[in-house]
Amino acid sequence: MSNKLNLVIWNEFRHEKTDPRVTALYPLGIHAFIKKFLEQDNELNITLAALDDPDQGISDELLESTDVILWWGHMAHGEVNDELVRKIQARVYQGKLGLIALHSSHHSKVFKAVVGATGNLSWGSNRKEVIWNLFPQHPIAAGIPDHFIIEEEELYCEPFYIPQPDELVFGAWYEGGYIFRSGCCFNRGMGKVFYFQPGHETCPSYYNPYVQQIIKNAIQWVKPASIGYDIPEGCPKVSADVTDEFK
Ligand code: ZN
Repeated sequence: MSNKLNLVIWNEFRHEKTDPRVTALYPLGIHAFIKKFLEQDNELNITLAALDDPDQGISDELLESTDVILWWGHMAHGEVNDELVRKIQARVYQGKLGLIALHSSHHSKVFKAVVGATGNLSWGSNRKEVIWNLFPQHPIAAGIPDHFIIEEEELYCEPFYIPQPDELVFGAWYEGGYIFRSGCCFNRGMGKVFYFQPGHETCPSYYNPYVQQIIKNAIQWVKPASIGYDIPEGCPKVSADVTDEFK
């Protein structure tokens, strides 16, 4: 059996087929581009998945063998199968799956269901963004300077309707004075979730080496921990008093 971490990169994969600006940046899809910079790490076993694939890219068998899912969606959130969302949510809560929601996936069914919020935010036209490292000792911030600049990103700004993150690793400032919580960690059940804001489809943000490093770090942070017992989906009735162990 392989000790590699099984990663699924899920992409809606529609903009790339319909918008020439997006095709030019990501000809094989955002998911394939992300795979290219991640596969330099041979500890990852990477599967690409897209909305229009059979089973919307994630069969039950694949889901059961997956440790981490990266999710990019935007124009077709509503087409994602509710049953698939429920299965992903259950596996995150059981600590068997880590979730990374990228950019417009703040509005994906998966992110909203797992984190428990509308994910609504304010937004505006593309402009310069400064990403500030607010938690340099956090594992997701490893190797990231105190700040870095993204020359062009879609404006995402507060208010961002999410529960207060358990850890806020990155904050963004945009030209015009807007701010946003751009790198947010959530613990949900026994699992972990990271939301990361850069990645608008017409912007080359995934070419940025710091954005790439943050995604690499986040995969290691959200991956399932070695939990010493099986986490059930429901609430099991106790079978014996714990104090019986002392008799
Ligand atoms: Zn966008």
